[in-house]
Amino acid sequence: MKVGILGGGQLGRMLLQAAANYTVETYVLENDQYCPSAHLCHHFTKGDITDYDTVYNFGKQLDAITLEIESVNVDALDQLEKEGVKIFPTPAAIRIIKNKIVQKQFYKDFGIPSARFKITNNKNEVASHQDLFPAVHKIGEGGYDGKGVQIINSLEDLDKAFDAPSVLEQKVDIQKEIALIVAMDSKGATAIYPVSEMMINPSLNLLDYQISPALIPEKVLWVVEAIAIKLVKALNSPGLFAVELFIDKNNEVWVNETAPRVHNSGHHTIEANHSSQFDMLWRIMLGYPLGNTTPILPAAIINIIGEDNFSGDAVYEGLEEVLKIDNAFVHLYGKKQTKPGRKMGHVTILHNSYQDLTHKANKVKQLLKVKA
Ligand code: ADP
Repeated sequence: MKVGILGGGQLGRMLLQAAANYTVETYVLENDQYCPSAHLCHHFTKGDITDYDTVYNFGKQLDAITLEIESVNVDALDQLEKEGVKIFPTPAAIRIIKNKIVQKQFYKDFGIPSARFKITNNKNEVASHQDLFPAVHKIGEGGYDGKGVQIINSLEDLDKAFDAPSVLEQKVDIQKEIALIVAMDSKGATAIYPVSEMMINPSLNLLDYQISPALIPEKVLWVVEAIAIKLVKALNSPGLFAVELFIDKNNEVWVNETAPRVHNSGHHTIEANHSSQFDMLWRIMLGYPLGNTTPILPAAIINIIGEDNFSGDAVYEGLEEVLKIDNAFVHLYGKKQTKPGRKMGHVTILHNSYQDLTHKANKVKQLLKVKA
């Protein structure tokens, strides 16, 4: 079977690593020929994943296609689907998720709890929805890794608002940020992974570290799982979905957003679960039974991020010390150049004690530095 991946970043790379266990010919489309995936696939095509002709010509030789980023040319995928190429997830599901306005409207239409919102077409319209303040302004398309999100506490923050079609939503009084990966096969059978809990670094708006399974009350967990399954069934598409949610200070659960693909919140599943999120997606695409999502041990993920004030050829300080830690698994994404805040890799730690996980996560953060 010939399977293509749109995008050749670190997610594509880990997907290709898992493909080695199956009989599959892999194809990658990506503009950067030095990307993390380039040397791991069977066939690399240099090209723009947002361009209709490029995606169509890449896809027409394939049996199936998946993606590692939402910003792809969905019109080309529509056409390929009509011609019999299987797309995971379906172009219809990608279309819903790709635009935050459409995504929010989808939650509303299907009764999936998500913060109250209004659509704003330009900056000035934000002022007329003060009833939503304090609010979060999210650009409809093109935002990524916190870059398409602004906090609007009052009219004084209006300057920060996006002057493009966006969602203005009420700020949730967050107790915990969590994420949950749900897999659905082509017959509609589902499998869910344990919930992951995010610890965010407020200055970079990037993940600090992450723990899984999350420490949340069982009754809240049931609500989270029910919402995530309902959401994926409503998307009505085979594939792998990462549902990001908030638990507020009253233990109410709200969906933040969904990703139609393998996700950062599931990196630990490589070592921490019997079937990783990457293995699971191959099973779905190749028509095999769903994998076992049971955790082997609790896990922490620490992102390896480029240090401030360093740009250039990456040098990993403290790597040997980290590799000495029991059950610490280092994943470097093979990016030659570092810059401040760039995601260069991650470390997964497994341990049966949460106290030790947190302790070791902090140790890894202190030891491992990406400089140039
Ligand atoms: P991105 O797609 O860039 O990851 P998100 O929509 O996940 O953007 O938002 C980034 C962060 O902003 C979230 O992780 C959360 O901390 C904060 N945030 C987003 N929406 C809300 C909200 N409604 N209430 C409170 N905080 C929010």
